[in-house]
Amino acid sequence: MQVLSVTPEIFPLIKTGGLADVAGALPIALAGKGVTMRSLVPGYPAVMALFKKGKPVLQYAELHGGKANVHAARIGGLDLFVVDAPHLFDRPGGPYGDATGADWHDNWRRFAALGRIGGDIAAGAVRGYQPDIVHAHDWQAAMTLAYMRYGKAAGVPSMITVHNLAFQGRFGTGIFGELGLPAEAMTLDGVEYYGGVGFLKAGLQAAWAITTVSPTYAQEIRTPEFGMGLDGLINMRAADLYGIANGIDVDIWNPATDRELVAAYATKTLKARKANKAAVEERFSLDSDTSPIVCVVSRLTWQKGIDTLAAVVDGIVAAGVRLAILGSGDAGLEGALLAAAARHRGRVGVVVGYDEGLSHLMQGGCDAIIIPSRFEPCGLTQLYGLRYGCVPLVARTGGLADTIIDANDAALSAGVATGFQFAPNDVEALLHAIRRVVDAYGNSSIWTTIQRQGMKADVSWDRSAAKYVDLYRMLVSAKADRP
Ligand code: ADP
Repeated sequence: MQVLSVTPEIFPLIKTGGLADVAGALPIALAGKGVTMRSLVPGYPAVMALFKKGKPVLQYAELHGGKANVHAARIGGLDLFVVDAPHLFDRPGGPYGDATGADWHDNWRRFAALGRIGGDIAAGAVRGYQPDIVHAHDWQAAMTLAYMRYGKAAGVPSMITVHNLAFQGRFGTGIFGELGLPAEAMTLDGVEYYGGVGFLKAGLQAAWAITTVSPTYAQEIRTPEFGMGLDGLINMRAADLYGIANGIDVDIWNPATDRELVAAYATKTLKARKANKAAVEERFSLDSDTSPIVCVVSRLTWQKGIDTLAAVVDGIVAAGVRLAILGSGDAGLEGALLAAAARHRGRVGVVVGYDEGLSHLMQGGCDAIIIPSRFEPCGLTQLYGLRYGCVPLVARTGGLADTIIDANDAALSAGVATGFQFAPNDVEALLHAIRRVVDAYGNSSIWTTIQRQGMKADVSWDRSAAKYVDLYRMLVSAKADRP
């Protein structure tokens, strides 16, 4: 089976969040299951630098203001179609915005172009390549499904995965004329969205199946609280909605072989984590003592509950916990955390920035990781935490609720506890959970049991990939029943 994945990010080539990890891991996990996945990605500078251009497999003399070529490339075990369109993608900064974080003004054009090419490839535009299924990720790839639906690939099964419903790609009506879609697409059941154009909305309408990245989030997005204005539409499509939790790359995230660690370890050699903890103390200028170090590795945003965290730093320190925080995001939150670090020298350390290597060291050396998200489609850092014996302390929402088993008495005696959950998502509940962590940490046999149980949890892609394969097969066989 041939699956065309259309994605704005793919690890290890370009990453801003969990979507990249999924897009990069899935092709590899599927390869052993009879599915060949090719990924269509924008040719950002970081991607273009990694391969030698040959003859393009698809050419556009004019695509939203310039020439575009599509190249087939194989980079680091990934089969790619790369969109070489300098006027759209050859820019410094991030994939969606400039170095200051401001969105590019023409993002609609950049990702309409990606969708247009996805739709053309689905319709057989690349000689010798016909995908059996097209799988699009998030709003940036969602227009692929609209171009398929209103173009020549309406009969090709399609699927959209929502990694975060908060990002919807909403634009003014003025852009519609330039999208090259027929007038009939500008309707309520097409791309029209609250008086403008909605890219994600268009994809949710057009997709044969909709998936999101955990079973709980799939239910949550049917409610006004989590539906972000799309709950009505999602409910209408409930029969085609699935939740499949993400896995992680257990080779990249393996404490026994991880080169970012000072000391490698396994379930039976947890004591070796000490050396990593010492390295974390040094990197974050923390006092050296026997208290637990709890970490945060996150985008610093409201969604991630970082404002709640900032509000309880003093309480966390008073509870006898040291904090190591790595992240970047809202300037206000960065400032609040840096101020907390200045208030609590030696107890709170903050590194503002994005540092993949340091994030590994933190999972390998810290005692616990806090994830206080207001909503969390799946979340990956709690899975890394499980794998590394860095006990997750999570808000009870979305994928966090699905993947962490709270260390209550029943779970402890049944031998299944892997972390701590708190609810409701507020300051008191978070502080209460911190105190539970401190208590458990004080009893080394309970603590190492929780660590070991987490490390034994199956967080690999294998199980999730098998669920995607089932869904792909179901869609392919549904083809016969569609008009
Ligand atoms: P989201 O995609 O919503 O940001 P996830 O938990 O799904 O959240 O994925 C976040 C990914 O980004 C994880 O791989 C995490 O380790 C990584 N990450 C987030 N912030 C940083 C940072 N400042 N430095 C290094 N890695 C980070």
